[in-house]
Amino acid sequence: MQDLNVYEQFRDSMRRFATDKVAPHAAEADRTSSFPAAAFAAFREEGLLGLAFEEDLGGQNGDLMSLVICGEEVARCCATSSQLLMNNWIASFPLLQYATRELIEAVIPPVAAGQKSMGWCLTEPQSGSDLWSLQTRAEPSGNGWTLNGRKRFITGATWADWYLVLARTGEKSFGLFLVDRDDSGLSFGRLESKMGLRGSPTADVIFEDCQIPAERAVGDPTGGYKYLTEGLTYSRALIAAQALGIAQGAFDAAVKYTAERQQFGEPVSRFQMVQGMIADMAVKVESSRALLYRSVEAASGEDQNKARGMASMAKLICSDTAMSVTTDAVQLHGGYGYLTDYPVERMMRDAKITQIYEGTNQVQRLIIAKYVYGQ
Ligand SMILES: Cc1cc2nc3c(=O)[nH]c(=O)nc-3n(C[C@H](O)[C@H](O)[C@H](O)COP(=O)(O)OP(=O)(O)OC[C@H]3O[C@@H](n4cnc5c(N)ncnc54)[C@H](O)[C@@H]3O)c2cc1C
Repeated sequence: MQDLNVYEQFRDSMRRFATDKVAPHAAEADRTSSFPAAAFAAFREEGLLGLAFEEDLGGQNGDLMSLVICGEEVARCCATSSQLLMNNWIASFPLLQYATRELIEAVIPPVAAGQKSMGWCLTEPQSGSDLWSLQTRAEPSGNGWTLNGRKRFITGATWADWYLVLARTGEKSFGLFLVDRDDSGLSFGRLESKMGLRGSPTADVIFEDCQIPAERAVGDPTGGYKYLTEGLTYSRALIAAQALGIAQGAFDAAVKYTAERQQFGEPVSRFQMVQGMIADMAVKVESSRALLYRSVEAASGEDQNKARGMASMAKLICSDTAMSVTTDAVQLHGGYGYLTDYPVERMMRDAKITQIYEGTNQVQRLIIAKYVYGQ
């Protein structure tokens, strides 16, 4: 990890960027369920889509801490935009670790430049928390692989160019396969209508005798379990950052509103019950941030079990904080908090998904207990 001052400078620049270029489009993307194209163009211009990648691949060589800070600051203004930004980093991670250099060099530079994007396909209609029951199969055929199955709830589906797919290759083995949206046999389900993250497309990705060349199997086609576990350790830190950013945005809005809103002849921030709520929200945000940053430190250590356990702790605490702080922020806005005129209403709806995806919070508790008991 770099000097803390460097990170704080980076945070300041990300806050200015997100406030100027992302926040103005957040309400519209939510209201119309439309892709936040202006925010995405700003990511491209700022080079943020390449933050997770090495310079040789057209990236900016950011470490996990930089990605977390960037994710927090973008989500503070617009959770949908943070989702579309980070989804590329998340889906690329196993590829960077295990694909051949040739495949990495073919795929990553256009992703880093924001010309192409990626999706991450794990969940299936009958296989959510219990990923090991998944039905999508990849079978060797000719010089490549044939995929059959259906993935559910895929972020970026219909829009992304590349899909990294977890598929069964044997009774107890899985592999990761990279599918191009133009490969024969790939299609999409209907776009889902959602409570939050409304500008981020979500749909089924369907494989019907979908043919891909042999070189698009990532690493060992029976090594999927390991790749997935490592990928989720990385992605959970980013979802935690997203959740924390949403919480911070709602907290900042609540502080501002309660300082301005007058009742009984004075700002409501003068009332002790309001102060108590604001204090509890501040403690939740700061303690969640401390645990998230400890988990980022653990991610670069030797102990992978610790890294995994701590990523789950960070995802759990940050997303529970996001739900609780956004709900209290709505409460502190009174009736106005219930209107779409104020951003806290959107933030409360956006917060909910962070307790569900990348493994529900019940599943995170199971992983944490496993780590604690050394299993
Ligand atoms: C907007 C959105 C975007 C998403 N993006 C992606 C994506 O890009 N790629 C992808 O692969 N997936 C994605 N998902 C899927 C998401 O990761 C799953 O929805 C999630 O993992 C939960 O699976 P499920 O919905 O099948 O719930 P289930 O697994 O059916 O769970 C139902 C309930 O049972 C509980 N439960 C299940 N098992 C246990 C257990 N053993 N102990 C205790 N409680 C348990 C759960 O916690 C939950 O409360 C997305 C989902 C949404 C809604």
